[in-house]
Amino acid sequence: MAMKVYKFGGASIKNAENIRNVVHILQSQADAPLLVVVSALGKTTNRLEELVRAFVENRPEKQALFEGIKQEHWQILCELMPADTEVHAAEVLRQFALLESYLQREPGENFDFEYDQIVSFGEILSTKIVSAYLQYVGIDHEWMDARRLVCTDNHYREGLVDWKKTERKIQHHLQSHYPHGLDRLLLTQGFIAGTPEKFAVTLGREGSDYSAAIFAYALQAESVTIWKDVEGLLNADPKLFPNAVKLSEIPYREAIELAYYGASVIHPKTIKPLQNKSIPLYVKSFLHPEGEGSLIRQVDSFKAIPCYIWKKRQVLISIFSKDFSFIAEENLSTIFALFAFFGVKINLMQNSAISFSVCVDDKDSIPQLIEELQTEFAVRYNENVELLSIRHYKEDSAAPFIEGRRVMMEQRSRSMLQMVLK
Ligand code: ASP
Ligand code: MG
Repeated sequence: MAMKVYKFGGASIKNAENIRNVVHILQSQADAPLLVVVSALGKTTNRLEELVRAFVENRPEKQALFEGIKQEHWQILCELMPADTEVHAAEVLRQFALLESYLQREPGENFDFEYDQIVSFGEILSTKIVSAYLQYVGIDHEWMDARRLVCTDNHYREGLVDWKKTERKIQHHLQSHYPHGLDRLLLTQGFIAGTPEKFAVTLGREGSDYSAAIFAYALQAESVTIWKDVEGLLNADPKLFPNAVKLSEIPYREAIELAYYGASVIHPKTIKPLQNKSIPLYVKSFLHPEGEGSLIRQVDSFKAIPCYIWKKRQVLISIFSKDFSFIAEENLSTIFALFAFFGVKINLMQNSAISFSVCVDDKDSIPQLIEELQTEFAVRYNENVELLSIRHYKEDSAAPFIEGRRVMMEQRSRSMLQMVLK
């Protein structure tokens, strides 16, 4: 059955007004059977992360954090459904009771496991709220549990999707529930999935886009639309580049490259599954749903314009052998293994005879990584640098950004210019 997949992120449902807007979009825009993937409300995931830390460290704040999250959700429910809120919100309250009883347990040893069991409530709660409101306004729908449909291994906090099993489960669900064709809206969670042992697992922060692509892949959907607070994919972050322009049509390959280098509009894992099944991806604004947005698909010709990606809070690390011998393959494999072990992703790397330099996101694990590197190597590092990447750069593209700054490292290929700036 030809279906469309819509994905709404946290900002699009951060308050009652925005949730009403989402429902309005569902009513006014949808022209095909729809599966709707939703993230947690607003910044709930960040709040739940704090709650996890309080829980595993057994700090007394955990109760207040829990109450705060509950209060925020309750507030929205009251605004959406002022009369008999408790009746309409029964399911949401039941989920809060489940979360509260989970928090009474003794935390286990595996932090990532605890993280996923708790943080996954964000999406359960948001979809229960949207579901209650859809019911309230009389929109027939099914709330589906993504933990039962999207199957991963048990790599907590970054579940690896089992595509075959996921496809089978999702298709089987639809065929058995809707043998005569889908007659209602489907609503499910982004970001969360289930392990073979039937525990909740998450797919990595900001992973709801990826979830939309997983469902679209399994359903061989007609298209996916990601609804954002920007009018589409832009060639730069408009907060940093006031002259940013929208890219109307982009090949999959370009979108993958941009996401990889850190353009934060689409989660990097999203594009590949769509490309594999030639499913077009629209990026549209939930504030101006009539706008045409951006379209990512297979296109043969594409007029490249410079695209800017600016990553702040970077650390430049230079690694030298202690005896000033060459940094060669055997050292590099030790170095890469340490980066992988500490979960530090390399954004840019460069080597010379006696040094190897990398630019990475600033993360909590960096001091430990550096300490570990120092047992074998001499290490110098610079915190608080920035990484500017320009795809399809022109000779003068970087000039306005490097004025008055120090270029600590530079690298260019035919299509990419990258600079570490201080
Ligand atoms: N709620 C999750 C997060 O904030 C997933 C998402 O928003 O895509 O990371
Ligand atoms: Mg989010």
